[in-house]
Amino acid sequence: MKPVIALVGRPNVGKSTLFNRLTRSRDALVADLPGLTRDRHYGEGRIGERPFLVIDTGGFEPVAKEGIMFEMAKQTKQAVAEADMVIFIVDGRQGLTPHDKTITDFLRRSGRPVMLVINKSEGMQYTAVTAEFYELGLGDPYVISAAHGDGVMDLVDEALDLATAQQTEVEETADEQDRGIRIAIVGRPNVGKSTLVNTLLGEDRVIAFDMPGTTRDSIEIPFERDGRKYSLIDTAGIRKRGKVFEAIEKFSVVKTLQSISEANVVILLLDAQQDISEQDAHIAGFILESGRALVVAINKWDGLTSDRRDEIKIDLDRKLSFLSFAKFHFISALKSTGIAPMMKSVDSAYAAATANLPTPKLTRALEEAVEHQQPRRKGSIRPKLRYAHQGGQNPPVIVIHGNALEAIDANYKRYLEKHFRETFSLVGTPLRIELRSGK
Ligand code: GDP
Ligand code: GDP
Repeated sequence: MKPVIALVGRPNVGKSTLFNRLTRSRDALVADLPGLTRDRHYGEGRIGERPFLVIDTGGFEPVAKEGIMFEMAKQTKQAVAEADMVIFIVDGRQGLTPHDKTITDFLRRSGRPVMLVINKSEGMQYTAVTAEFYELGLGDPYVISAAHGDGVMDLVDEALDLATAQQTEVEETADEQDRGIRIAIVGRPNVGKSTLVNTLLGEDRVIAFDMPGTTRDSIEIPFERDGRKYSLIDTAGIRKRGKVFEAIEKFSVVKTLQSISEANVVILLLDAQQDISEQDAHIAGFILESGRALVVAINKWDGLTSDRRDEIKIDLDRKLSFLSFAKFHFISALKSTGIAPMMKSVDSAYAAATANLPTPKLTRALEEAVEHQQPRRKGSIRPKLRYAHQGGQNPPVIVIHGNALEAIDANYKRYLEKHFRETFSLVGTPLRIELRSGK
């Protein structure tokens, strides 16, 4: 499981600046996809081989009883509850404030490991900037400049060590072979996730799925259908540690992100009785960003008028067009209709996501694409695409080698993607194209 780091502190101490620095590399990936809204409070980062999730919190005013400040405090509490460790940020230019002390009290009660981080400390001396913060009793402060990047890598390295130590050991129940296709069913509350799990597993199995208070962070439930092996992933996510966390909301973004990242194929469940919401689009965005294979299931298709059916189809086209690589199924989890075709799509999405794409065939497809449409010149430079090889699976990565490839624009990249998709029948999986110029 990816460790989860929460960034906590008063408004304006530099949380978003640090968040952007930690997650920046992921932004470029989805930046120009139409229709995609990103939730800027949750992001994925990676340092070397170590991936992690980071949660930005709006800013904590612990005294607020209502209004926007109260909402922000609630959000912060949820983030801390879901985190493996907390980076508590204070402002080195402003110095220690009473609010910093209140936040410290709250964090102490949370039982989470905390790193105290003094931001905006570029050009300042360690002893001078840290002196007054020892009063918080959180040990030696880390000194960084989120804006300039000073100290950030070391900070994250340490944070990840702490977070990993905090995570409970997850036993490997079975070896990779026996687990089958790992499926995560995600969607907002009440779309019918538990009902679908019921339908897939049979009533008797669900108790295990929903069992609270389990010590393991992630539960996988194996099942078989038509002689194929699958397992369903549920992340028991929130570990109860102390009173502070009583009011955790039913829907958890962290839980959703964790299950997505452990899955081979994600079933995104939508509710046909409701319009597609911002939250649906956010979740869709997470899946796309993760690169996991995807099947979209529109649930509660039973008992709808044909007008409503048309309406929802239009709504899907308008709001989730960026998921056009995936198969859409109209199902009823309750009446168990449409399930078999949906599972067929799970199989084919998995097959596409894990397909072997041999270099000669990829290169041939590349040549065909270029023959049919040349990349545009940029000034006097014409990019030259030479050959392609596979750089990864689930999602498939196609690495294209050549010269002056930096002159290739997003449109042409999309054209190449489409061509590879069609040539290799890659339905149901995101596909990543990487361009590598030789010298
Ligand atoms: P947040 O409200 O905690 O998310 O804070 P922001 O990230 O929005 O930053 C608040 C302000 O502090 C912005 O004007 C940032 O440019 C500035 N800031 C953030 N990090 C640094 C830093 O390392 N040094 C300096 N001098 N300013 C910073
Ligand atoms: P979850 O919060 O996503 O796990 O949603 P649940 O599985 O608890 O379902 C929420 C509500 O939707 C329950 O009242 C279900 O009976 C209902 N529901 C689930 N699937 C269907 C369906 O296919 N058709 C109809 N009409 N109702 C459904």
